[in-house]
Amino acid sequence: MTRIIVPIVDLHAPLKAQAFTAYAADADLVELRADLIGDPDAIADYLAIPDRPPCILTIRSAAEGGAWEGSETERISLIDRLGLLNPGFIDVELSTWRASANIRQKIGLVCQRLRGGEPENATTRAKNQLILSVHDFQGMSAWDRDWDELRGSPAHMLKIAVTPADSCDALRILARYRAARESGEARGLMLIGMGEAGAATRVLGKCCYAWGTYAPIDESRASAPGQIDLRALWLSHRWGSLWRGTKIYGVIGWPVAHSRSPQVHNSLMAERGIDGVYVRFPVAPDYASFAAFMDQAAHGQHLPPFAGFSVTIPHKEHALRWLRERGGVVSPRAARIGAVNTLAALRFALGAADAVGAAGAQPHGWIGENTDYDGVVALVGATCPNTGKPDELRGKSAAILGAGGAARAVVAALQDIGVRCTIYNRTPARAEALAAEFAPAVAAPWQARTRHNADIIVNCTSVGMHPDIDDSPLPADSISPATFVLETIYNPSQTRLIRDALAAGCRVGLGDAMFHAQAAAQARLWHGK
Ligand code: NAP
Repeated sequence: MTRIIVPIVDLHAPLKAQAFTAYAADADLVELRADLIGDPDAIADYLAIPDRPPCILTIRSAAEGGAWEGSETERISLIDRLGLLNPGFIDVELSTWRASANIRQKIGLVCQRLRGGEPENATTRAKNQLILSVHDFQGMSAWDRDWDELRGSPAHMLKIAVTPADSCDALRILARYRAARESGEARGLMLIGMGEAGAATRVLGKCCYAWGTYAPIDESRASAPGQIDLRALWLSHRWGSLWRGTKIYGVIGWPVAHSRSPQVHNSLMAERGIDGVYVRFPVAPDYASFAAFMDQAAHGQHLPPFAGFSVTIPHKEHALRWLRERGGVVSPRAARIGAVNTLAALRFALGAADAVGAAGAQPHGWIGENTDYDGVVALVGATCPNTGKPDELRGKSAAILGAGGAARAVVAALQDIGVRCTIYNRTPARAEALAAEFAPAVAAPWQARTRHNADIIVNCTSVGMHPDIDDSPLPADSISPATFVLETIYNPSQTRLIRDALAAGCRVGLGDAMFHAQAAAQARLWHGK
């Protein structure tokens, strides 16, 4: 069982009320952060409540990432005083534990018998279990440095919280759970990645035998960076259905903190009863990091089953390259666009190879598709006034603003519909290269976009995206009422360009429509429905 542990970090309400709120919201344990709460008497009063559920007592110094300002002697005395009230678990930093035999003896006296320790002290009533912790708020250096010492310790539970640089480190963290279990480690383990790059470990730990995960009652009451709040864990991350066989999906990008994909795919899997979970995987922007992440996800030992990924900026071309270098399958459409936004492990996506026209692919390999194309087709169709079908725009002309990954899918889809494309891009060489690749598309200078005479305008730049919501790639007076204005940006859902187009009386297509259609196409590939 993986416990949800709610840290209590202040006295905005009586401790009893806070603990009650946490248990009512399906927490399994609370952690009393005595260093942050700052009122030992309030904690003692709470601990003295008869038949109170067990909790974790933690008093962290500033050097350990906490707020304890007293002396070490005072801290150990407080552990002793509160420990005799039997919180249930006492969390002590490894550096404190190793500091002196005297400290170890005092902590030992308020704990159940420790491995290899003295026989139970008959005079003590303490029945606590000891959690020994290591925290590294700067990086991963504690990961290997302290692990063996932690494992050699007599603690009942072992915890190591480090700060991954990206999701490659997060996968190393997850793999250690299963490796430790397989090598005979029977004690409870909490191996945690802090910060944005570690957030996936807080969810996926449940698929890897984690003893517990920390989740604040709300974001403002987090006790460490990257904690996902209790409600989000249950409602957005499918906590109730996770187990070691749950298929793992996610979005790979840099950055991905604001991606809406987890919300969309997790609710879709919940609705359809699919045993899967979808999380964010921030992977550093270079190809080597992408390849290292994918190699681990595809072939790594001791990991849960990775079944599929959405791929976003800046990795869409990396995904194509990785598939080609590793003998994977690239759909004809993704090959033509030159970018992969969806990866699927064929052993979990039965029928995907046929679906993308690559029958006969290796059953254990990976396949890549570009579902942005489906998104563009839906976006175009949504603006067609008569039939709602994209064919209605056959023979029209389009001004494409931008020449990045989104523009590639847009040009490919529009040309398949029979639309003539002119590409305007801030960096002219990229527009020219894209036009040459997708001839008969043509390139034109960025400044000339204001003089376009196209029937359709498509914004494929990131201009106008949150937070720069008042920017537009095209002045309002370059938009005439007869034009179809299509937006790829979905955050915000109405960009400045769309607001100007609506004011001019144009028909518009929103990035939201494209986003949902490309996500639905990913789901069809992964789940076959
Ligand atoms: P990308 O490959 O990084 O390309 C970005 C494009 O924006 C480039 O053409 C770039 O021009 C241009 N650009 C950036 N800043 C600019 C500025 N200040 N002035 C003029 N041009 C500027 O990104 P992408 O993958 O194509 O994504 C572009 C947009 O499409 C993003 O907003 C993304 O959210 C959206 N998108 C939406 C969906 C969906 O499902 N709705 C799917 C994919 C993408 P240079 O070449 O000169 O740098």
